[in-house]
Amino acid sequence: MSSTLRFLRAPMRGVVVPLAEVPDPVFAEGTMGPGIAIDPLGETLHAPCNGEIIHCARTAHAITLRDDGGHEWLLHIGLDTVDLDGDGLELLVATGERVSAGDPLCRFDADRLAQRVKALVTPVVLTNGPDTDLETLVAPGTIVEMGENLLQWQAAADRRDEAGRADSAPDAGASRDATIAAANGLHARPAARLRAIAREHAVELTLTRIGEKAGGSRDAASANVASLSALLNLGLVQGDRVTVSAHGAGAQAAIEAATTLLETPEPGADRPRETPPEAQASGLPLASRMPAAEPGRLNGLSASPGLAVGPLVRYEVALPSVADTASDPEQEKRALVAAIAEVDAELERSTQAAKARGQQAEADIFEAHRAWLDDPDLRAAAETEIAAGRSAGRGWYLALEREIQRLRGGANTLLAARADDLRDLQRQVMQPFAVEAAATLSGLDGAILIAQELTPSQFVEVADRVAGLCLAAGGLTSHVSILARARGLPCLVAMGDALMEAASDKACLDIGPDEPHGALELAPDDRRLTRIDEERTRRHRQAVAEHAQAQNPAVTRDGHHLHVGANIASSAEARAAAQAGADGVGLMRSEFLFLERQSAPSLDEQQAEYRAAVEAMGGKPVIVRLLDIGGDKQLPYLSLPASPNPALGERGVRLWQTHPALFETQLDALLEAGRELPLGEDGLSTLRLMVPMVADVCELRWVRERLEARAGALGIERLPALGVMIEVPTAAVCADSLAREADFLSIGTNDLTQYALAMDREVASLALRSDVLHPGVLRLIAACLQGAAGHCPVAVCGAAAGDPLAGALFAAMGVDELSVESGRIAAVKAGLRRLDAGALAAQLPSLLALADGAAVRQALKTMLEPERGHEPGVADSSAEGIEQAVELDIERGVEQDIERGVEQDIEKGIDKDIGKGADTLGRTTSGPSNTTTRS
Ligand code: PEP
Ligand code: MG
Repeated sequence: MSSTLRFLRAPMRGVVVPLAEVPDPVFAEGTMGPGIAIDPLGETLHAPCNGEIIHCARTAHAITLRDDGGHEWLLHIGLDTVDLDGDGLELLVATGERVSAGDPLCRFDADRLAQRVKALVTPVVLTNGPDTDLETLVAPGTIVEMGENLLQWQAAADRRDEAGRADSAPDAGASRDATIAAANGLHARPAARLRAIAREHAVELTLTRIGEKAGGSRDAASANVASLSALLNLGLVQGDRVTVSAHGAGAQAAIEAATTLLETPEPGADRPRETPPEAQASGLPLASRMPAAEPGRLNGLSASPGLAVGPLVRYEVALPSVADTASDPEQEKRALVAAIAEVDAELERSTQAAKARGQQAEADIFEAHRAWLDDPDLRAAAETEIAAGRSAGRGWYLALEREIQRLRGGANTLLAARADDLRDLQRQVMQPFAVEAAATLSGLDGAILIAQELTPSQFVEVADRVAGLCLAAGGLTSHVSILARARGLPCLVAMGDALMEAASDKACLDIGPDEPHGALELAPDDRRLTRIDEERTRRHRQAVAEHAQAQNPAVTRDGHHLHVGANIASSAEARAAAQAGADGVGLMRSEFLFLERQSAPSLDEQQAEYRAAVEAMGGKPVIVRLLDIGGDKQLPYLSLPASPNPALGERGVRLWQTHPALFETQLDALLEAGRELPLGEDGLSTLRLMVPMVADVCELRWVRERLEARAGALGIERLPALGVMIEVPTAAVCADSLAREADFLSIGTNDLTQYALAMDREVASLALRSDVLHPGVLRLIAACLQGAAGHCPVAVCGAAAGDPLAGALFAAMGVDELSVESGRIAAVKAGLRRLDAGALAAQLPSLLALADGAAVRQALKTMLEPERGHEPGVADSSAEGIEQAVELDIERGVEQDIERGVEQDIEKGIDKDIGKGADTLGRTTSGPSNTTTRS
């Protein structure tokens, strides 16, 4: 059956290498698709077939070609060649160009590339036919000549022809009725899957509504699934009936797949609903449930405490400014095709990366975006605008704007939320046509920002301007939550999609300092606003008093001195930490230096950054956590093997064994940065290293060996102190063996809680139950402290260290240091000064005997609030107490400082701290220089 066979020719002369042997897991494991590779013996890449160039990387190292059968071939010259930024490579074609087999596509300087990249081996991968069986026609290890047939396969359409002849009528057409099962109706992701079904079976697939839509709707009656916008235009909601029709040889199979898709509910596939599902489960204890929703009030999980009042503003990404008109419509159309192809290729990469991380829901969203991009109706609308004299950018803007407004104006709130996705695509495709930088976001100052979710870089862009942040998605230990706490910005997460519909000119965000939930009140009345004002004033005064004491040591009422360190991500944050009163840096998350860039920072860059952090802290200790990559933190330039459970895969210290160059460069940079620094007060080096994700002492030994070897190579005799993070339950249980060989331990409660409870820290619906105060997690922490006793100090550097209840308990359990976000330092120190650690320690057995985290939280709260009538008063925290303490501090001169205008300085730090809220209310019994009263 020769007519069903297709061939691909060799794009260059070279040695044939099976894809599985390419030293890059993204190719070797078939993540990108099936294919073959060639180790080149020439310097020009040629077209392996006739077709159209659909993507050329800006850096010229990768080209994608669509053959005349619709198969898309990625030709990737060498590995890691993206890092060369085009150096040594010369593109000979452009996106949109038609080529014939054998045409030259790219010239490269093999010698130059060979000196700078991992390998020259060139994968040739079929990216849109994951199940296609490719047969290699030239034996691996032998030389193939350019143009020689290299691969053969049976084209999918041809296979379908055969199947069709076997089991269906020659001109197959079929239809069946179905009922929409998805709770959210037919939204973009299932719509994209329908489109994929039509493509896979090579049929024309149509959905037609059965019956009239209630209320004289404007929604359409029938849509071809090739057009996502037409499909969404149907406005189908749960329970609606449709007829699914297919035409083509694969009609029966397509109908089968499409009706199954439409009639199957999507459990858990959507983003969090209004309240996390577990919050609705009646069997859960009260404290671990989200409070019931009330009119005018939206609840969420408390990611960062505080109080804020302001208008609600939706996060909108600013659009680039583009030319309005253009003179050559044909050129504009080609430019639009190229811009769309560029965005599509980027989305394809994001899809693969999300799949590699096991984030199927995220991959589905990118796939839906790709379907939008490929929507023939949207393209046709843009081309009509271009034909009328609009520029490519303006034509695309107008075509999508109409769709965005239509989605927003409809009754389906879920589709309205999808308008945000279209807005994102509108912006991305317009970007290459920008004539000036995008306008900055407006109306944010003093507002409460609402968003589905934010990336860390989007957060950083707005954080200094807004008064508070509400996210529909997100979890308590997601990185935006960590960043919000670091800045003391009030923040609620996991609020559900209802948030995106909220509107208010004056809303109130109220998140209590030790409450697991908080609320966004949409229409606070005047009485409420007055009370909020009073509360803000009270918290402000408390924050002023706490800041006045921030540089002093934290000693509990019964005389235990604890270090309060800072968690930072950069040397700039070290400067803020020093000003906030940090006794050192307890955790510098070094991976933040490696994120959001195209290649790893060089040795010099890293060295300068570590050294700057040490200098900012003026001789106080700085602990740099060695690169913690994997799980939720991925580097775009480091292809990690796909893992069904990334949090349980190759990450932290495990990863270094497979990426020694990355690891050793960091060790060298740290050794150089710490060279000849004076020792700290505790006799350890000022710059200290900490190993993440350690499971046992063998891993520590391996790191120490590498450290010694690198120090030897650099001629450095004095090794820096080396500590271990306790994040894996086995490390907590085996802490004695670790503590004997480590210089210090630091408990990472974020991961320890996740692994102990088997609850993913990124899953919003589990956030309430994933509580560090669970007696099981506390027992692990107790075991760790017991194991380390007499060997080395123990800190806590997870987010729980800054939680007023958990932090107090850790102090009572005997930890030596709490390391928290800089915005929390003053309050944490103040909380410790109010604490009678010994009295709380006496309660530990009764706390460990409780049933779950909610019960421990409740009991602790009662213990730390004597006004509730419980003995002993382990923190003097009555409202009168705090007022007296504030008065006391004010008498000592804080008020005068305020009057002198120092407030302006303090305000910069404190206005946000007011947002972050007071710690456990209590009386400071200290003098200005120390806290000395013992119980
Ligand atoms: C932790 O796991 O508690 C921790 C501090 O590390 P990270 O949050 O960066 O994973
Ligand atoms: Mg961790």
